[in-house]
Amino acid sequence: MKYSELKYERINVEKRRQLMNENLEKFSNAESVENQINIILDVNEQNKEYHSYAAMASLNFSGDINNEEAKAEKDFYDSIGPDMTEINDSFEKVVNQSKYKNELSKKWGEKFLSDIETSLKTFDPKIKEMLRDETNLRNEYTKLTAGAKIYYDGEEYNLAGLGPFHSNENRTVRKTSYEARFDWFENNSETLDDIYDKLVKLRHRIATSLGYDNFIELGYMRMGRSDYGPNEVANFRKQIVDHVVPIVKKLVQKKKDILGLDHLYFYDGINFKEGDPKPKGSPDHLIKEAQVMYRELSKETGDFFDMMVEEELMDLVNRKGKRPGGFCTSFPKYDRPYIFSNFNGTDQDITVLTHEAGHAFQCYSSRKQPLLGYLWPTMEAAEIHSMSMEFFTWPWMQNFFKEETDRFKYKHIAGSLSFLPYGACVDHFQHWVYENPQAAPKERNQRWLELESIYLPNRDYDDLHFPKTGGIWQGQLHIYQVPFYYIDYTLAQTCAFQFWIKNQQDSQKAWKDYVRLCNAGGSQSFTKLVSLAGLELPFNDGCLATVVKHVGQWLDKVDPKKL
Ligand SMILES: [Zn+2]
Repeated sequence: MKYSELKYERINVEKRRQLMNENLEKFSNAESVENQINIILDVNEQNKEYHSYAAMASLNFSGDINNEEAKAEKDFYDSIGPDMTEINDSFEKVVNQSKYKNELSKKWGEKFLSDIETSLKTFDPKIKEMLRDETNLRNEYTKLTAGAKIYYDGEEYNLAGLGPFHSNENRTVRKTSYEARFDWFENNSETLDDIYDKLVKLRHRIATSLGYDNFIELGYMRMGRSDYGPNEVANFRKQIVDHVVPIVKKLVQKKKDILGLDHLYFYDGINFKEGDPKPKGSPDHLIKEAQVMYRELSKETGDFFDMMVEEELMDLVNRKGKRPGGFCTSFPKYDRPYIFSNFNGTDQDITVLTHEAGHAFQCYSSRKQPLLGYLWPTMEAAEIHSMSMEFFTWPWMQNFFKEETDRFKYKHIAGSLSFLPYGACVDHFQHWVYENPQAAPKERNQRWLELESIYLPNRDYDDLHFPKTGGIWQGQLHIYQVPFYYIDYTLAQTCAFQFWIKNQQDSQKAWKDYVRLCNAGGSQSFTKLVSLAGLELPFNDGCLATVVKHVGQWLDKVDPKKL
């Protein structure tokens, strides 16, 4: 069945509440663990249905933010979110008090109950209205950034559409296109500040209403993190400063040489004098190549990608009115994932495709996990699937980049490594923000600049006023949408680099380890999944240093001028 043929409808909240009340009673009166298990599985099916329809409503709106009908459906699902959380919360409370807890834990593993305990700590009916306000503010951010109309060189673009100019081989084009981008941000900075200020204060209020000192602990629990906390993360950030920042400095020196420039400014983000490598061919052609690639990579990925194509489970190309960014979503009722992206003719099209296909492949592989909560792992684990898939597909990059393949690979590795300090900077910033919820927007920008000087000491914005005054973080949607979702990419990248190394040493074993990890879905916590995949935990002393040394040696051996 094609995506457009999948059944979608609005669910009836009152009916759900009634149904849940019946389930609650049956559950409490159940005389055997089997009865309780059956009720849990019934509720699980109902939740799958709700999450599928909500995901479809959100996806349809992302594809066309000017479509009134799509907006109405998304608004409907947004509006019932807190009620549905409340209904689910009532069930989790009785499960948490089950007299058969030991048996339940035996059946589904300890994560089953620990997920419920965490979830219970993130909600109380008294925060329902605040959750609604939070969703509305998030939507304001999406609406504003997705609707950006930027005039550049006589044409109108959205933010994604302007992207290719930022990596143009002509320095003037790069700089002026960034000026156009940042002019838009500057003109909207008061609104962006206002939305964020409200979000931060609101999240602080939600946290204190639930009995926390500030939002940080709650933010970690919302991300489902159960086996590490802010201390481990702070230590990991420090390792990035110690081991990665010096290598990135070296890469910057190398780049000056490649580009033949005395000094690099922020807008000199390209890696080669002639511009960054570009995928060859139309989007349709690239998708055909991807299909060939996934058939050759393995039987599992071939079946998976054929399904994505046949059932029209991908919307890849940028167009007006489409929400920026790339993501993978899923409809658990139908056992199907979906990939959304904004192809704009840069090499990112291919990395986003393989990245999101990694998420989708994992989601497809774990579709038979017994519980909805086991379909997806927490994000730092989920990003291992996606970032590692970017590397597992390396042998086929020739099909996309032809004579520019080696350049692509150099850029991919150098870029992945250089990303780590940026990721840590975004994370550090958010910790500061939620520790200081009363800070004024100007102080936030000031703090961002201080952190940049630690993590990104080579950044020089020249006379680009907006980023120079510390506002650039406003373009990072995670900061608004999903607080603390960012260090995940750096933890996962450290794991993905391990897969990259393993794949060079023994590709069959590496692939087997990867598939095992994908099949496990979210049935275990991050640290357990890492060990299941045969990887070293990024928090362990020496892990990052070893990985980075390997990557650094590979980069040292490449002379980008000769590529
Ligand atoms: Zn991802």
